[in-house]
Amino acid sequence: MNTDKLDFATLAAMRGGVEHTGPLDHACPLCGPDRQSEFNRTRPTLRTWKTMPGIISFYCARCEAKGSALADGTFTTQPISLPLPPPRKPRSERNNLYADHLWQMADVDLPAGVIAYFKSRRILLDDVPPGALRFHPKCPWGGKKVPCIIARYVDALTGKPRGIWRRSADG
Ligand SMILES: [Zn+2]
Repeated sequence: MNTDKLDFATLAAMRGGVEHTGPLDHACPLCGPDRQSEFNRTRPTLRTWKTMPGIISFYCARCEAKGSALADGTFTTQPISLPLPPPRKPRSERNNLYADHLWQMADVDLPAGVIAYFKSRRILLDDVPPGALRFHPKCPWGGKKVPCIIARYVDALTGKPRGIWRRSADG
C-alpha cells in the first residue's frame, strides 16, 4: 500500500481540515484513479475518522487499505476502533431467512385435499422423502394468505437449504 497518498496532511485535507471526528466517506486516492468510469473513480469507498487529535484512521471498502496516519508523519497499519456499520446480509441470505420462516411455520402433515391433489396429478407421495413437502394453511402470497404446498430445495453440493417452492393449494 502506498501510504504517501494517505498521509495525515492528505487525509486532513480530504476531511476538510476540520476537527470533526465522525466518519466521512471519500473517493479513495489509492484505488479510485485507476477505475475506468467516472462513477467508480469518485465513488466514496474510503472511510476516514478521527478518534483522537493527531490521528486519522481509514479503511477502504474496495481496496481494503486500512490504517492510521499520525500527525507526526508516522503511520500504523492498524485503524483505531473501526466504526463500520455491520455488513448487510446479502439479499439471497435475507430471502433464505424468509423462506426458512415460511418453512418452519408449515405443517409436516399434509391435509387430505393436498394428498388427493398429488394423486390426481399422478405424483406418488410415497416417493417424496418424509417432510420434504409441507403444508402452510395461511401462506402470504401476493398480498393474500392462501393455503400452500411448500417444498424445500437444497444446494446439491453442500446440502444447505436454498429456498422454497410453493404452490397454492387452492387451484
Ligand atoms: Zn481504495
